[in-house]
Amino acid sequence: MKKNRFLILSLVLTMMVSSLSSCSSNASGEASAEIPEPTATAEAPITEVAPAKAPAHETPTATPTPTSTPVPTSTPKPTLTPTSTPEPTSTPTPVVYPPQAFLSGNRDDHLITKELCYIEGDRFFLIVSEGADLPGDFADNISLIMNRMEDETGLAFDIDRRLSGWDVSTVDYGYNPWEGFDFKNKLQIHIKVDKEDVGYISWAAAECVVIFSYELFSMDVWNSVPSYRDNSWRRADHINYYLIAHELTHALTQRYATYGKTLTEGCADYVAERVITSLASVSRDFAGSADSMAANLFYSVEDEVTPENAEEVFRNDYSDLSHANRGDEYTLGRLICSFLRESYGETFLLDYTNACIDAGFGYDVYSYYPPEEEDRNKLTDIFKDLFGDDVFEKFGKYYQEHKDLEFRL
Ligand SMILES: [Zn+2]
Repeated sequence: MKKNRFLILSLVLTMMVSSLSSCSSNASGEASAEIPEPTATAEAPITEVAPAKAPAHETPTATPTPTSTPVPTSTPKPTLTPTSTPEPTSTPTPVVYPPQAFLSGNRDDHLITKELCYIEGDRFFLIVSEGADLPGDFADNISLIMNRMEDETGLAFDIDRRLSGWDVSTVDYGYNPWEGFDFKNKLQIHIKVDKEDVGYISWAAAECVVIFSYELFSMDVWNSVPSYRDNSWRRADHINYYLIAHELTHALTQRYATYGKTLTEGCADYVAERVITSLASVSRDFAGSADSMAANLFYSVEDEVTPENAEEVFRNDYSDLSHANRGDEYTLGRLICSFLRESYGETFLLDYTNACIDAGFGYDVYSYYPPEEEDRNKLTDIFKDLFGDDVFEKFGKYYQEHKDLEFRL
């Protein structure tokens, strides 16, 4: 699996040049849309192009191309002009939005979308592209994940000020049929379909989540693309809720604070791991997500981490784009979170988040990612102030004790 990281490295680096962020998850399948490997084993870090706004962590790799065919929002002009009424141009034309759709709540039912549509959940809107296939319990499961995630972190999704002014066109590269639509300050979760195997991948920001997942493509789409149809291993037999939980964690934490790359990706993997593990018994999809996650999480990184160098590794924050082990920030960040939970208690992420906010690293404090050296140093100092001057030494020991776990499984 490590070799695969190298195989895609050159591609990743090429695409990183102008990107603001990078993201993928070892087990999340975030990278599944373009890794020539089964979804369940997708591990390679992927670079994505950030939306115009917001400090996104993950950004699409592909050229900004609308994934949906633009639909005119204006109504057709009348073919007959009334002789005694005002000109049609003086009457405001009501905006016609994509239609609302509904899910049954039953896993065995499917919504196969024939056009762009939306589903309103209790705390989110699913904005579903044409060609998607959602099981009937999909929205319920999103709610379940969000609730469990809040319990796990002590953070809450419902902070309306984080959602104001979000321009949906940044998600669809300029195409925006939602102008003026009232999203009620609920989280926008875009379920997208990659109809040409371009390699779009999932990403998230404080304001929205964008999901590309093979398992959510309709069979018509799947069978119409040879590189999908002829490679059935790319599609798992379950909905990948680990991927979705990873991205939702980004939306949650970024509403509050901006961490460095290692903790941003690490805590997303960590929270997703905790949440999906806790939900494994709920359904077949969650069980499958938990199994594939467990089979693909790493417990060590390529370059050694010791009590002596752990602070330096953290401070550097895998910021060197020529680093050959991209993806290690996910693993190391996740292990740091596990260590902190064991050592400092369940509120470690909430405490660090608040410390970041207090130090000026709150929501949208800067629009670039990863942070520059000056901010990396500040974030490291915040970390030490909160968890102790010896926290990195302790973590180095923890790492050394746990790094071989994967070989014992
Ligand atoms: Zn991520």
